[in-house]
Amino acid sequence: MAETRIIDGKAFAAGLLARMMAAVAALGWQPGLAVVLVGNDPASQVYVRNKAKTTLRVGMRSFEFLLPAETPESQLLALIAGLNADPHVHGILVQLPLPEHLDTESVIAAIDPDKDVDGLHVINAGRLAAGLPGLVPCTPLGCLLLLKDALGDMAGMSAVVVGRSNLVGKPVAQLLLQENCAVTIAHSKSRDLPEICRGADILVAAVGRPEMVRGDWIKPGATVIDVGINRVAEQKILGDVAFDEALGIAGRITPVPGGVGPMTIACLLQNTLTAAQRIMGGPKE
Ligand code: NDP
Repeated sequence: MAETRIIDGKAFAAGLLARMMAAVAALGWQPGLAVVLVGNDPASQVYVRNKAKTTLRVGMRSFEFLLPAETPESQLLALIAGLNADPHVHGILVQLPLPEHLDTESVIAAIDPDKDVDGLHVINAGRLAAGLPGLVPCTPLGCLLLLKDALGDMAGMSAVVVGRSNLVGKPVAQLLLQENCAVTIAHSKSRDLPEICRGADILVAAVGRPEMVRGDWIKPGATVIDVGINRVAEQKILGDVAFDEALGIAGRITPVPGGVGPMTIACLLQNTLTAAQRIMGGPKE
């Protein structure tokens, strides 16, 4: 049985944050990230707290706005307009999902695209599709950084992305296309998914179904990026890939937890630094 290398996203993210801390210290001014949470969803509260903590750790300013669940849309839009105009704020993130009475698309559309550090504004989706500089969604950016580190030049490789959400699947596919991979996007209507996956040198699973991708779907030696976070019990999280089955077949694989997950916050702050440098007229990347 061939050996499978485990891609340590936690260690990679820690290195990224350390380099960011040094880059922020060298700026002589502080990038600022505003995070807006509407409502009291416990998981979202944990995410927002972690984001604020990590923002401060790298030396950036953190602005937190915790709004009651019944906040009217007009009030949320007014807050975003204020943050768009605030020179101390370089990144704005509205934690999703929003309560049902709020229209997610209108809220995201209200964010200045140059401060849209989640990369979800249609302007940024368009820039990514057109190959123009913009802000790329954090989890896809995290996947790309791990893949580049593991594989270097990916030109000509066959990449299969399972999942086509605007948040993960589509942007991952766009990024891999920019790396000159031959990209296939698979989804719930794809026929013979196992066979499609078996053709992949790079297999990215972003589905949200625990262990859907089985070991015999994986091409021997392939690099597997498991984006899935599936809570199956109080203390147990599974990825979209049957990890134990993949061992000995995949060349490299990200574990869950400890793979893509830690990259997401690191890339959020990377995006905040990028946005801040662009806004302040500094180096572009
Ligand atoms: P969505 O539910 O928005 O999208 C899921 C995608 O998977 C859809 O495109 C859907 O296809 C496809 N899909 C569903 N069932 C199947 C199936 N049986 N066969 C093939 N494709 C299928 O999820 P997200 O993209 O937001 O998230 C995906 C996973 O990644 C989740 O587990 C989520 O928790 C995790 N995640 C992890 C993050 C991290 O930080 N690591 C960040 C964001 C998400 P169709 O379009 O046809 O319905």
